[in-house]
Amino acid sequence: MALEMYIGVDLGGTKTKTVLATGNLEIINEKTIATRMDSEETIIQGIFETIDAVKGRKVIKAIGVATPGQLNREAGIAIQAPSMGWHSVPLTRLLSERYQVPAYIENDINVAALGEFSCQDESLNNAVYINVGTGIGAGIILSKQVFLGNSGTAGEFGHLTMEPGGPLCKCGNRGCLEAIAAGPAIGARATQWARARQDSSMHALALQRELSAKEVAEFARGGEKLAIELLQETGRYLGRAVADLVNLYDPGLVIFGGSVVLNSPDIWEAMLAEVKMRLMPIIYAQTEFAKARFKGDSGAIGAVVLAKQKTN
Ligand SMILES: [Zn+2]
Repeated sequence: MALEMYIGVDLGGTKTKTVLATGNLEIINEKTIATRMDSEETIIQGIFETIDAVKGRKVIKAIGVATPGQLNREAGIAIQAPSMGWHSVPLTRLLSERYQVPAYIENDINVAALGEFSCQDESLNNAVYINVGTGIGAGIILSKQVFLGNSGTAGEFGHLTMEPGGPLCKCGNRGCLEAIAAGPAIGARATQWARARQDSSMHALALQRELSAKEVAEFARGGEKLAIELLQETGRYLGRAVADLVNLYDPGLVIFGGSVVLNSPDIWEAMLAEVKMRLMPIIYAQTEFAKARFKGDSGAIGAVVLAKQKTN
């Protein structure tokens, strides 16, 4: 029997990445384009274009889509993705009609969690995937399935309150982890710190414009003390939240993805030291902390896993 083939689409605010892969997650073909944000139609046309390019004349079994924002899984509708500027698009119906196969949609963090989980040992049942980038979120895998919660929003890890009077978060709360440790928050805090510190090599740039988290990480690599201090502080906040999550779920494996946590050794080391300090030794000893394996591919691979799980 020929190998079954699936399409996985990672629909992001800047890029749309689509793969054709076997059920064993071997990528046969892939295509990445810039997401054309002009309208819902141009975004959907872009998805069609990438699928047509990777699929060719191959027969596929199903399509999986990873998308940011809120969604209605049963209706296959992306309700709202602030980064994409769309509302109530019946994405899976449009895909099913065009390609005559079932299509499934899931939140991008949950899909990335599925992708990363799929390359782990088969005996593993639970894991948590944490993404720290422009936002912060977690995909919780329990008994090999994504845990969605009652209304499908489980894993809002970025909105744990770390400082009751801290910076305002876009969710309306103050002092959320995301408002302290996500990329934009790091850039904003570094700018504020550097403006007040003439002895910092970030000072001149911070007076001109807001620093980015990427720049702060570069300054830290160059030995800039204020940048290192800030990233270590960020790592400690993340570590406290991660320790809470491990205490709650005892997942055995925590996988980290996202540019902020992968690009900064200062954050990574401070985070793990904080986790170790806060967890009971017996729990810490039984938990593995790993970096994402697929990095930029975890969304598209995860979308293939989603399509496969739903059709088998
Ligand atoms: Zn929040």
